[in-house]
Amino acid sequence: MRKAILTGVLSALGFAFQTPQGKAPMMDSINSEALKADVSFLASDLSQGRLTDTPANRWVAEWIRSRFERIGLETVDPGGSYYQTYYLMTSTLGKENLLEVSGEGVTLQLAPGQDYYPHNFSASGLVRGPLVYAGFGMTVPDLSYDDYRGQDLSGRVVLVLNGEPGDQDPTSPFDGVVRSEASSPLRKTLFAQEHGAAGILFVRDVHSHPGPEDFEAAARSYWPEQPPRIPRYTLAMWSDQVRIPAAEISTALARILVRGSKRSLEELAEAAESQAGMTTLPLPAFTVSLKTAVQRHTVPDRNVVGLLGGSDPKLKAEHIIICGHYDHNGMEGSQAYPGADDDASGIVGTIAIADAYVQAARAGQRPKRSVLFAAWDTEERGLLGAWAYAESPLLPRDRIVAVLNLDMISRDEEVPVGGGPKFNGLEVQTAESNRNAVNILGTVRSPDLKVETEKANKEIGLDLRFRYDNNASNLLRRSDHWPFMQHGIPAVWFLTGLHPDYHTIYDRPEKLNYRKFERIVKLVYQESWNLAQQAGRPGMLPRKGLMTEASSSK
Ligand SMILES: [Zn+2]
Repeated sequence: MRKAILTGVLSALGFAFQTPQGKAPMMDSINSEALKADVSFLASDLSQGRLTDTPANRWVAEWIRSRFERIGLETVDPGGSYYQTYYLMTSTLGKENLLEVSGEGVTLQLAPGQDYYPHNFSASGLVRGPLVYAGFGMTVPDLSYDDYRGQDLSGRVVLVLNGEPGDQDPTSPFDGVVRSEASSPLRKTLFAQEHGAAGILFVRDVHSHPGPEDFEAAARSYWPEQPPRIPRYTLAMWSDQVRIPAAEISTALARILVRGSKRSLEELAEAAESQAGMTTLPLPAFTVSLKTAVQRHTVPDRNVVGLLGGSDPKLKAEHIIICGHYDHNGMEGSQAYPGADDDASGIVGTIAIADAYVQAARAGQRPKRSVLFAAWDTEERGLLGAWAYAESPLLPRDRIVAVLNLDMISRDEEVPVGGGPKFNGLEVQTAESNRNAVNILGTVRSPDLKVETEKANKEIGLDLRFRYDNNASNLLRRSDHWPFMQHGIPAVWFLTGLHPDYHTIYDRPEKLNYRKFERIVKLVYQESWNLAQQAGRPGMLPRKGLMTEASSSK
């Protein structure tokens, strides 16, 4: 009884303290007919799948720029451009690659493709040195995790496992079953380099991923004979930092290399499963010579960015980011990947919200905080446009209040029986069961944004689903909110979900649920408006222990 009264009093107080917010102005300017017209244009055959580094991708960027200008957004770039230019890196395998291992009275000479291949971001050069095993080879300050703990690895070649501790464990502090950023091979190469290593070798984590390996097939698909339809890209600002050779080796070769430790590769992989990291272990039986020749090529790329300045003298220095990505998967022969849902829907939604804001501002209702609108490029190749921005933002990073990412916001999620690997980790479900649904990802790190999304949805009435933050599909790290989360910024992804047309030539404009699409865009607009108006900012939780709590409270 007493408890009930107390709860009543508290919630009444809570209500009284809430800032009145109300409906976002010009909401009705967002309508399904306009969204449909724009999606039909952006996802038409003429846009040829909007593939990075193609003329079609460049004119689509130009179209978005022209819409930002026409709407009346301001430029942020000091040069007065709506473009933010950055550089991608692609690479080709040179001729002079060799791996030689000597010990136990023998010398093995291996050519690329045969038990080893260089990574695409590898530096070129020759290193020779003793081998050291370093578990997963990660240094992760926010989890007090370090496999190198104060050790100097000068002149050593480091052998590390792919992945991370608890790779398939939902309670792992490394973002549960989602692969954490620190586990990426390029970042691991930089960790090893910071500790003085001369080179780095990667091998499969045979503890979490036992089973047979077809290394030669993996090598052929990494460096195919014929140049692939789409090159493998990374950000030049990252690969430019790599000064040491980096290569992948087969488990068969690794088994030989670890012999001197008197432990099997399985035992060593199991020993790497630790809370705080492991101490490096010398592998004295063999010395490694690694010669790499990887030619790097630089490709300019660009995001489109526009701003609506806020009205409050203080709060206008802070901003909300609303974004989507304009690139997609190009052409397969004469057939374009239209990418109507992925992500013409998010770009068109971003433009519609920008338009509503500017109309409202002209009618005297300018938001207190500023709002930044962004169309990222090269999401499909590794979130590279959003990464480029998050690493090098045009406005101070600590002034980003929240990121609302719109990527695939117009379909009804459908996971068929036997749908294949693209539906890994997702439960079978029909489109009918998702007619009114949208998934929200990222709230595991920012419960405040969960509350904000629910609040904004009150008048809209969508079925909000918060279910994929710790999912084997890895969805949490598969769109442009992720780089911002990695920089400690509250960020959410609005995603209607996967469907059989996902990443096929059938992701066409006529397949969209335009009624729901309109309501999702309105939801994002309302939420961003509330965030722009209220006094406080949403918070961001540390990762540590979060997954353990999240999974035990299910
Ligand atoms: Zn996408």
